[in-house]
Amino acid sequence: MKLLVVGSVAFDAIETPFGKTDKILGGAATYITLASSVLGVESGIVSVVGGDFPQADLDMLSNRKINIEGIEIVKEGKTFFWSGKYHNDLNSRDTLVTEVNVLEHFDPKIPDSMQDAEVLLLGNLHPGVQLSVLEKMKNKPKLVILDTMNFWMDSAWGILMEMIAKTDVISINDEEARQLSGEYSLVKAAQKIHTLGPKYVIIKKGEHGALLFHEGKIFSIPALPLEVVFDPTGAGDTFAGGFGAHLAKTGDFSFENMKAAIIVGSAMASFTVEKFGTERLETVTNEDLKNRINDFKNLTSFEVAL
Ligand code: AMP
Repeated sequence: MKLLVVGSVAFDAIETPFGKTDKILGGAATYITLASSVLGVESGIVSVVGGDFPQADLDMLSNRKINIEGIEIVKEGKTFFWSGKYHNDLNSRDTLVTEVNVLEHFDPKIPDSMQDAEVLLLGNLHPGVQLSVLEKMKNKPKLVILDTMNFWMDSAWGILMEMIAKTDVISINDEEARQLSGEYSLVKAAQKIHTLGPKYVIIKKGEHGALLFHEGKIFSIPALPLEVVFDPTGAGDTFAGGFGAHLAKTGDFSFENMKAAIIVGSAMASFTVEKFGTERLETVTNEDLKNRINDFKNLTSFEVAL
């Protein structure tokens, strides 16, 4: 199955306790599709960049068989720019700069070659843009996955609710789940979010793993304890990319297979945090991924003889 991805393709400047970058390649759609390319899934991006966006980065994406026909280039415009600084615990960060630039008047266009995508992954963007992509698909996708953030809850609540109502799987962090539902307990939060539309609710807990909720069932996984955590930027997007790509690859949207997809997403995200930006993700092989999934298995399997 094909995976259509909507989201930012961006420049990021990142500061962590371990170092600092100038403008480097970033953006939600970039991380998502790089992750899906490790699984060999046919994916395509719908996004927009400015005339300042390097051809070398576009080539890097298309060399990985990522369809970039849906990336509009506004020659006279500037690419979306985000800058953030992480605190010492790496769990929280301050956004220093957000320059929306060409994303401000983005009118997404889906290339014909991606109109038949069965899985639609709506990366973090204005919910109005996410909704318009869903509406522009001539064939309704079989699965709609939504990533969003507290920023849109504060600034675009009504249209976000409309978008969530049309979503099958929502992926948010614990703080966002609490804000969206008004509940502190994550179990109660997930129950409330189900009533807004999504049959599947994923709640990410950073270095504490993730939870999947569906029809009263809960699946929980830890995050891999890593020796090196260098830069968490894009971890959530990489997670969503690994998750969505596994579902597109297998074509199986059952709860059991979503459990597997969550493991794939987490394993993939564990690579992203090891280096700045997309640097590590760009070199991950299928073999690396298999080994890391095995690490997950070893970490979580045990027997108890009483
Ligand atoms: P994450 O660390 O998973 O939250 O994702 C970080 C990526 O999101 C960065 O590469 C940014 O370029 C991108 N990003 C940050 N803020 C926004 C925004 N308001 N809209 C779209 N993309 C954003």
